[in-house]
Amino acid sequence: MIRENILKIKERISSICSKSNRDSDSIAIVAVSKGRSIQQIKEAIEAGIIDIGENRVQEALLKYNDMRYLPVGQAGAISDKQIKWHMVGHLQTNKVKDAVRIFDLIQSVDSIHLASEMDKQAAKINKIQEILVEVKTSPEAAKSGVLAQEAAGLIKTILELKNIRVRGLMTIAPIVDDPEKARPYFRILRELKEQINQLTNHQLTILSMGMTDDFEAAIEEGSNMVRVGRAIFEG
Ligand SMILES: *Cc1c(COP(=O)(O)O)cnc(C)c1O
Repeated sequence: MIRENILKIKERISSICSKSNRDSDSIAIVAVSKGRSIQQIKEAIEAGIIDIGENRVQEALLKYNDMRYLPVGQAGAISDKQIKWHMVGHLQTNKVKDAVRIFDLIQSVDSIHLASEMDKQAAKINKIQEILVEVKTSPEAAKSGVLAQEAAGLIKTILELKNIRVRGLMTIAPIVDDPEKARPYFRILRELKEQINQLTNHQLTILSMGMTDDFEAAIEEGSNMVRVGRAIFEG
């Protein structure tokens, strides 16, 4: 089932990309596996997923440790080094140390306080921690995220941190009955990225937006990283 689900998602991404003249290989699919078992994650990886998203450090840590010793794939094992771990949930300061140890991309940075702590922990292990800044594009969406008008200021400050590399922006659109209603928030994020790139001497490249119910609209608005949970693991 997971394999078929992933195939269907890839087909949908291909068709939306050909309509908007984009290369479907440029869209990363992050399989958001909170609450899913290691067996389910393994199936997703065997079906070609390399990006795994979690929203709690504790849960991610258990899975990460287990999966390191798990032979994945009968034919052509996928080494754990190729798997990228994404933190997509709100992060508490006391979890930053563990998060920096296991995550390749922390997508939920929304304060200088959090970024500074990450910088400190990353320096200790000689790591350049890649991050996205989470932007609250709508009043009714998740509580986390920096306000759009404060994002540029936050990024300028983060750019001074030696062990942090800001790769782009992430947003969680509000839950709506029609994906068309989420589209304006995706557009806000894309425009914000363009503004920030002009304002700073830094190229933000990743736009992480779009989930099970709205990833097609998000891609049409410029997303190059979709975070999909239910469409991969359910149904
Ligand atoms: C759970 C989650 C997703 C995936 O949501 P689905 O609707 O199941 O695709 C994406 N992003 C974040 C931040 C999440 O917490």
